[in-house]
Amino acid sequence: MHNLLQQIISRINGTIALSFSYQAEDTAVLHLLSQCQINSLEVFTLDTGKLFSECKKLHTETEEFFNISIKKYLPKSLDVENLEKTLGDWGMRESLANRRLCCHVRKVEPLERALKGKSAWVTGLRAAHGVTRSSIQIVEYDEKFNLFKINPIAFWSDEELFAYIKEYNLPLNPLYSKGFKSIGCAPCTRAVKEGEDIRAGRWWWENPEHKECGLHIKEK
Ligand code: SF4
Repeated sequence: MHNLLQQIISRINGTIALSFSYQAEDTAVLHLLSQCQINSLEVFTLDTGKLFSECKKLHTETEEFFNISIKKYLPKSLDVENLEKTLGDWGMRESLANRRLCCHVRKVEPLERALKGKSAWVTGLRAAHGVTRSSIQIVEYDEKFNLFKINPIAFWSDEELFAYIKEYNLPLNPLYSKGFKSIGCAPCTRAVKEGEDIRAGRWWWENPEHKECGLHIKEK
């Protein structure tokens, strides 16, 4: 796969960004990228202020493993203050609008800053993640952020992903061994039962077609 990724990346001028969100997918993609020749790469994370402590530990482990620095983009403090006044600790669960507002302040606006000036955005998205991602391609053009979006493991199965992590002994979020299959902010993510959908533990009170935070929605 890294040969295909190298071919894609070689056609891109400018800085390539990898969004790292403490999931096995991101680590696998980071490992693929580490085998490519890239002129300018920024690995970044969106530090929403609501991350699990396990993610913070994985941040350091990943930096050490790959000998890189993962840049943190934080939400604007005044926006967070206003958000907390409006929603309190759990208001994001009370309505879709509240949840989207929280995601906008803590994720979407920081992502806009992270992607500004970048030529391509590499992600760990997989079609297996569910209805909102079933049509993704390995290379797409993201009209919302106006850049190429590269999803190198778009068609990997769960088995392929975790076999890859094991083969290269890559750092893995300990939340997976606690029953989590997809990892996001602590108030909005729970462990799932065997047989449940990969993203069943994300915003579990919402309908499946709403389960996106606004980072990967195809609209301007
Ligand atoms: S996932 Fe939950 S806590 Fe995180 S930004 Fe979205 S609504 Fe807020």
